[in-house]
Amino acid sequence: MSDNHENSIVFERKIERLKTLILKSNSMVVFTGAGVSTLSGIPDFRGKNGLYTDQWHSMPVEEILSISFFDKHPELFYQWAKDVWYHLEDYQPNIVHTTLASMEAKGYVKGLYTQNIDMLHRRAGSKNVYEVHGSAKNHHCRNCNKYFDYIEIADKVRDGIVPRCDQCGGIIKPDIVFYGENLDSFILERAYQQFSTTDLCLVLGSSLSVQPAASFPYYATRNGAPLVIVNAQETNQDTVATLRFSDLEQTFKALSSWFETVEPKNN
Ligand code: ZN
Repeated sequence: MSDNHENSIVFERKIERLKTLILKSNSMVVFTGAGVSTLSGIPDFRGKNGLYTDQWHSMPVEEILSISFFDKHPELFYQWAKDVWYHLEDYQPNIVHTTLASMEAKGYVKGLYTQNIDMLHRRAGSKNVYEVHGSAKNHHCRNCNKYFDYIEIADKVRDGIVPRCDQCGGIIKPDIVFYGENLDSFILERAYQQFSTTDLCLVLGSSLSVQPAASFPYYATRNGAPLVIVNAQETNQDTVATLRFSDLEQTFKALSSWFETVEPKNN
């Protein structure tokens, strides 16, 4: 049982209210952050503990993940990234990923936006996934833009080789949004549309401290949609949340077993 586990009487009352909100919703959208990945054992690279700290060989992680630094020192990025980001097949989707995939399959979740680059939502079976910070799945040559899949790249990176394009010799970069790069404007526009018109917004495992994530639930509440936040730490939108839970695993264990009994929507 985690430190965030809630008192059962309070928790049961809230979870019943959440079930009612889900059953009534027709256009639920979900935003997930690092907390959903850490439940699968993937370290939060912004976190203070574990494999990744906010410093690596006296360099701030923000610097390693900046595009100008990558273009000068791709070998340092790949050395930093290889232990986790190129071992993603070692991690498995957890109960949050699988429950959200089931909620989409039954017609409840209409859009899933994530800051996580680990592909676990797709591996769990979610289809309408929008990876706001990109994904480790796709790679492109910095020079000629040729496409490479994770599978083609991961072995080389694990062997300490900086992956180069077989067409032009250029450096290959993952389609993860680095500091200094723009977010995908299609995804931002889609998010604006979906969060502005949703009738239920779930925020899972994010402290909502990074833009544009912080503005997604704001679009929803501004238009009167209930906001449900599940996160271990406080967020700056807790005061406008209809429901607030602190333990992702506790919340999704309760939702998962209940949702198995819910019929698919027919719209
Ligand atoms: Zn190339």
